[in-house]
Order: sequence, then C-alpha cells, then structure tokens
Amino acid sequence: MRPKSVEVHPVYKCNECGSRHCESLDYVNRIGKIICGCGNLITLDPIQTFKISPVYKNLATTKDEKKQSIHNIQINTSKNSKPLKKEYSEKCVSLLVSLGWKKRESKKIVSQVFNLWKREMKLGVNSRNFEEFISYLMRNQKC
Ligand SMILES: [Zn+2]
Repeated sequence: MRPKSVEVHPVYKCNECGSRHCESLDYVNRIGKIICGCGNLITLDPIQTFKISPVYKNLATTKDEKKQSIHNIQINTSKNSKPLKKEYSEKCVSLLVSLGWKKRESKKIVSQVFNLWKREMKLGVNSRNFEEFISYLMRNQKC
C-alpha cells in the first residue's frame, strides 16, 4: 500500500554556532522560537504545511500523465499540416519589416521559412515554440 501521510520535521541551523535544531511543526507554530545552546535566540517563521509528494519507483507515469502525453502528441500531429497562425505570421512579418525587408518580401520569407521549419522540425508553431521559430527565422531569413 501507499502511505496516507508523511511526517516531516523542519530543521534549523543556528547562524551563530551552526548547531542543528530539529523541531516539530507544532513547536514551530506554538512557540516559534529556539534558544540555542550558544545563547542565540532563533525566531521561526510559522509554517502552515509542507508539500511533499512521494516519487514511486518503476511508476514513471501515471495513467493521467500517459493520457496527457498522447493528447499532446495528437495536438502536435494535427498542427503539422496547419498554416502558420495569422497572429504569428503578422508578428514575424513586422519583425522582418523592422529589419529592413519590404512587406511583400517579408511575407514570402516567413512562409518559406515556415515550410522549411515544418520539414525540419515536423511540427507547427505555437506559443511554446514561437520564440524558437523567431530565432529560426533569423537564421534563415536570407534563403
Ligand atoms: Zn547557536
């Protein structure tokens, strides 16, 4: 079976002498102070909870994660044949125009580079890889 909960104890280290102090959550929230053996008074920030989740051996992906990744793959393949989104192509075109290209040339370059990108990367352009596409565009703009 898997554990229902996990118990953790915050550990503090004295700034003055380096002594370790292992306290309970209850102590931290109720007392909130440690008087170290060296005489240093340590003030503890209240702790609501610890977020700890176990990592199980040999169970790298849960069902949900598997579903998710299949879902992602499907999205990626379906985007393969799609043209470059208008908002992306407009951004690219205006970028090229700002670099000195004429608007007509820029549109041509963007669509050429996008075709090149699709052949090479086997995926479309989305918000996650748009910056990557921009740098790809910059490298290939003279084609
Ligand atoms: Zn100390």
